[in-house]
Amino acid sequence: MKKYFQPEIETMPVEKIKELQSERLVKQVAYVYENNKYYRKLMDEKGVKPADIQGLDDLKKLPFLTKNDLREAYPYGLLSCPTKDCVRIQSTSGTTGRRVVAFYTQHDLDLWEDCCARALVAAGASEDDVVQVCYGYGLFTGGPGLHGGSHKVGSLTIPMSSGNTERQIQFMRDLDTTILCCTPSYAAYLAERLYEMGCTKDDIRLKAGIFGAEPWTEEMRHEIESKLGIKAYDIYGLTEISGPGVSFECSEQNGMHINEDHFIAEIIDPETGEVLPEGEEGELVFTSITKEAFPLLRYRTRDLCILSRKPCSCGRTHIKMCKPKGRSDDMLIIRGVNVFPSQIETVLLKEGYTPNYQILVDRIGNEDTFEINVELAQEQFAKLKDDDFVKAEKKLVSAMVGMLGIRPRVHLLAPHSVVRSEGKAVRVVDKRKLHD
Ligand code: ADP
Ligand code: ZN
Repeated sequence: MKKYFQPEIETMPVEKIKELQSERLVKQVAYVYENNKYYRKLMDEKGVKPADIQGLDDLKKLPFLTKNDLREAYPYGLLSCPTKDCVRIQSTSGTTGRRVVAFYTQHDLDLWEDCCARALVAAGASEDDVVQVCYGYGLFTGGPGLHGGSHKVGSLTIPMSSGNTERQIQFMRDLDTTILCCTPSYAAYLAERLYEMGCTKDDIRLKAGIFGAEPWTEEMRHEIESKLGIKAYDIYGLTEISGPGVSFECSEQNGMHINEDHFIAEIIDPETGEVLPEGEEGELVFTSITKEAFPLLRYRTRDLCILSRKPCSCGRTHIKMCKPKGRSDDMLIIRGVNVFPSQIETVLLKEGYTPNYQILVDRIGNEDTFEINVELAQEQFAKLKDDDFVKAEKKLVSAMVGMLGIRPRVHLLAPHSVVRSEGKAVRVVDKRKLHD
């Protein structure tokens, strides 16, 4: 079986990757300066000329781009080639505000699909596989990205898009799907419906899943793997940089290899913008070195994570990023304490609850209220008597206090009380934002 989609690139010696990146960076900066007024202005304001960028070491001289720049330059301001050379537009999901659009030439689509094909092959895909893509199709990059990658691998591709869960399961069974692509929250929901329909993992032929587009915990991975009888691989990406496949997990299932022939990754201190050494946690920044239509330089993702160049047992040499902890703007500050939804998910799954939960934050007077609605599984619900309910809630509250350092109110709810997601799950309802 094929271990890599493009072995000569994926296992290139680190020194060679760095040379390639330097060479491509120098060309890309000249190209962007020449063709993009918006970025040229930022470089001019910072007093940087293309000639100042001679290689990787000079990257830090370049100005950053942020989502605000993309919103300001919307729609065409950051396009670096004529629209007649573009063949596609995709758009962000708008999770954190107004959507932004990204443009692709045919060359850009090809390299994006190569990245997705690398992810699929790393998860074991080949011509013999049936790949069911239930990421949304359309403006969202999830569906089109994995779809294109699956074609490149030569797998039999089922372009399901999201939703219609029963039909997803029927097709999965009828067509003997072997690889599932969707958000982790949707994979958990598919597993739940499968069992509710009276089936188990023995009634399906799935062997692997490629799940991304939202943060998910190791506990969630175990939950999905055991319910569906598969290996669950993480995949990361963002529309601004191309889409899914910027990085992906290999057989080690411990961090995602970044496709370094196309993207240079840096970690910066989100407060000062200073570049941090490898191994430190900070904000992930990407520079796209091969794209034609929408090549962003030093784009601040707001995703918090750590990079590592430790050699990987899979043989790939590209740098790895850990699972992003969430976006810096996903972090809730409740009563002055930093809280990540992923910490709450970890506690819930460790304590034996379902991954169906919602976090509700509000402010009454000067005080933040903090509640967690947690749905019980059918068997748990049937077993719990009134007294046990109170006890179970108390136990869960103290586990939360242990992890978070602050006390939430916890409500254990009947099965199906929390809305399921077909795409990115909405875990947090922060009403304080509405009052501001
Ligand atoms: P939006 O920013 O509107 O959600 P995208 O659909 O382009 O638009 O989503 C990209 C973002 O999704 C990333 O910046 C990151 O926050 C999140 N994301 C994508 N893949 C993962 C993953 N595997 N783990 C955690 N977060 C992810
Ligand atoms: Zn690896």
